[in-house]
Amino acid sequence: MTTASQTLPKHYTDLCDFKREIGNLGSVAALVGWDQETYMPHGGARARAEQSSLLAKLIHERASSTKLGDLLAQCEADSSLNDPTSEHGANLREMRRDYDKATKLPSDLVANLAKAQSEAQDVWKVARTNNDFKSFVPALTKVMDLTKEKASCLKTDEHNELYDALLGEYEPGAKATEIEAVFTPLRDRLSAFIAELRDNGTPPKVDFLHREIPVEKQHAFGQAVTAAFGFDYKKGRLDTTTHPFCSGFGPGDTRMTTRYSPTNFPDAIGSTMHECGHGLYEQGIPKETGLFGTPLTEAISLGIHESQSRMWENMVGRSKAFWTWALPLANKHFDGAFDDIDVETFTKAMNTATPSFIRVESDESTYNLHVMLRFELERAMLRNELAIQDLPEAWNAKFKDFLGLDVPDDATGCLQDVHWSFGLVGYFPTYSLGNLNAAQMWETINEQIPDLDDQIARGEFGALLNWTREHIHQHGRRYTASEIIERSTGKPLSADPLMRHLESRVRPAYGL
Ligand code: ZN
Repeated sequence: MTTASQTLPKHYTDLCDFKREIGNLGSVAALVGWDQETYMPHGGARARAEQSSLLAKLIHERASSTKLGDLLAQCEADSSLNDPTSEHGANLREMRRDYDKATKLPSDLVANLAKAQSEAQDVWKVARTNNDFKSFVPALTKVMDLTKEKASCLKTDEHNELYDALLGEYEPGAKATEIEAVFTPLRDRLSAFIAELRDNGTPPKVDFLHREIPVEKQHAFGQAVTAAFGFDYKKGRLDTTTHPFCSGFGPGDTRMTTRYSPTNFPDAIGSTMHECGHGLYEQGIPKETGLFGTPLTEAISLGIHESQSRMWENMVGRSKAFWTWALPLANKHFDGAFDDIDVETFTKAMNTATPSFIRVESDESTYNLHVMLRFELERAMLRNELAIQDLPEAWNAKFKDFLGLDVPDDATGCLQDVHWSFGLVGYFPTYSLGNLNAAQMWETINEQIPDLDDQIARGEFGALLNWTREHIHQHGRRYTASEIIERSTGKPLSADPLMRHLESRVRPAYGL
């Protein structure tokens, strides 16, 4: 990769230096955010809120500054820099995307939205506790109206509809129509698959998964597994939080968190492997090249980030090959807690598909149906095809249709997620895009590394990690998400690989 000091014009190196400064401020913001979730004493909350908002302000001021705009314009006018296939060409294209986003929203809209979001969150909490959707309608209506206004400001010629402008915040270049074209067949096939399992399958035995395992032992096991995956602990950490996350601070420093329950070992190891997938991506992006802070040292999109986490959590972490290696290791760490369980039985228990009401508690197969339901509803709200007060009815009807269950109340239905009170529209699809991307990559990887299962069963993950480094991580934001999928797998995104993956894992677990 080119470094900023190579013979490139001064306005370009100045631009990269300025972006690096913003990148460093971002690192500091990530650090105080991580500290708040992990070790900060409760008493520090108020001062921390002030520190975080000051950092956010400093970052926004620089990211939307005339200085940045002028340097960018100078570089764009320089014919020596405008080859779109070069690294600097890609860097400039993405910097323009970021700059336009940072400067397009009027400051009073940003302020109004922030105020409406914070009010809506408070109202949402009470509404969910009291199972009272009606009391949430005015606050949600206000947030949605402002979110539509935001979408109108962000909309460009690249977008077909308002939804695309919001989606672009998380999945640059993606279109709702393209997502719909993959989601619709997946939704129909998944619903039929889940009904078939319910009607004809025998659910695997899972009770042993909830045997009591001391938290410190689970932590040591999680570290051993993630170190074997290739996470570099000299350049990262694993800590504990209520809501697991991973934060790539900057060159040489990636922080993962996970959560533990003595009686829910699968949840902990699943979270740890998931966050490790994010961590491996962050460690694989070339941030130590002098270009830190520029788009070539950043992740492409949430859907690609999530593909890395889902691949390690699900494709690897629920496979028989993985447990062939990991079950004896777990028994060593856990004083033989699963000594009486064979690999076959253990793997089956890790591959259940049971419809349930709450998205964050759902399994690998049914999860996507929860996401698709939200995608369809939020798109309808944005198009004014669904009035806010009619949301519960629409939610419950779709839930019955997709997952075959009658939603008992709104607290377990349309009030369960915080996202919409934040105005987070266009965010949900990235979760399923992660699963779809991961499954499609997984098929290609297995074609290119035919003995991958044998390697995994021996606890060797290097070839797999190298594939992701070479095809995904090293490029930063050089390509869009759909380009990276086509380049790495040779075809556009499709629902087929994910369906094949789920069927191959879940059918045997249900004796089908
Ligand atoms: Zn994730």
